[in-house]
Amino acid sequence: ANDLSQLSKPTVWHEFTPLANEHNAVNLGQGFPNWDPPAFVVKSMEETVNVKGTSTNQYCRPQCHLPLAQALADDYNSRPSWAAAGVSVDPASNVVSSLGVTQIMYIAFRSLIKPGDEVVLLEPAFDIYAPQVLLTGGSPRYVSMKTDTKAGDTANEVFQVDWDALEATVNSKTRVLVLNSPHNPTGKIFSRTELDRLAGIVAKYPNLIVFSDEVYERIVFDPEGSPHISFATIPGMWERTLTMSSAGKTFSATGWKCGWCVGPSSIIKLMADLQQWVNFSTPTVTQDAVARSLVKARSPFEGHPNFYAWLAADYLKRRDFLMRGLEEAGLPAIVPAGGFFICAETGGLKIPDEVFLEDSISAPDPMPRDYAVARYMTHTDPKVAVIPPSPFYSKENKGEAEGYVRFCFCKTDDLLQEGVERLKGMG
Ligand code: GLN
Repeated sequence: ANDLSQLSKPTVWHEFTPLANEHNAVNLGQGFPNWDPPAFVVKSMEETVNVKGTSTNQYCRPQCHLPLAQALADDYNSRPSWAAAGVSVDPASNVVSSLGVTQIMYIAFRSLIKPGDEVVLLEPAFDIYAPQVLLTGGSPRYVSMKTDTKAGDTANEVFQVDWDALEATVNSKTRVLVLNSPHNPTGKIFSRTELDRLAGIVAKYPNLIVFSDEVYERIVFDPEGSPHISFATIPGMWERTLTMSSAGKTFSATGWKCGWCVGPSSIIKLMADLQQWVNFSTPTVTQDAVARSLVKARSPFEGHPNFYAWLAADYLKRRDFLMRGLEEAGLPAIVPAGGFFICAETGGLKIPDEVFLEDSISAPDPMPRDYAVARYMTHTDPKVAVIPPSPFYSKENKGEAEGYVRFCFCKTDDLLQEGVERLKGMG
């Protein structure tokens, strides 16, 4: 059985948002927007709860509220890359929804993993993946993507799959490989070439399923040069992929916890059957509001052809603002191609020795350097909260986290402005 003792600790998220609040720091740590969802999204929820005489306020079909499944099928089926791949999503059998990608992924692991099965994670990897593998009895295997950084480098260049290491790690016991693109925390978007190469490996192992976490799919900065490509659309990969996404990042509604998984009906059925015993069904009102929002998001929005184009343009401005601010503050930052995070090098910062001895509820012992940097930046100088990346690495690769921290830019202009002013005055 897996040793689960490490899971009894609070997570990095439980440490840094309270620490930021306690010290009045500008919170560029945990990634949640500090603005309301767009008016059409809020309106969708109002419409949903006010529907009279129908079932939106009662249990829904446990697999997925059908209007959401239909809206998602329409959405995926309308994407040229999905159509070109010959993929057609059937709302009745190819979609399951749950409480965010976090729960849908847990249910997916639980449905597929047997003791002894291995799961390959590309590091840095979102901190929830490995604990979920351990909880479901699997064995995580890690392949690092970090290479050397130079200021102004792009995340796509800096974070590269070590293909030899990956080939050496994947084997007939590998049940799942988790892919995350656009990637948290780096902002890397996997290229067509990289996805093709990955598909070549997947094709050699008939037992291997790819979980593709695409929650930042709508926040893409150069859709021509570095487009978001769903792994399910790579030839031969639909049957081998569970595509997971959610409403949280797209509609600035992380508290709605509405996520879904789209994939081959055989696996979707396993997940839907399992979910009946976990939460029976997920909130109908939220799913109904998201279904309405998905339909409305396709209409022109604020001078853009649709809401998604506006969202990407809005985030691009915020990315560029924070990139400039980090440069002016002397923190070499890695340019993200998508998502709402920037990783910046902190090798030049001097951190007082006593910070390493502070009580941290989530840091490994001894405290890694990125933790000390993040804590010091949050509570003392410049009072800007950031996230240390070591929770995104296994023990064997934690050293790679030492020299950088993660900033988020899903924040209003005034907060980003204040954060940048403080960063420039640092030291
Ligand atoms: N996904 C968000 C982040 O990386 C929040 C994660 C969480 O709070 N669990 O910041």
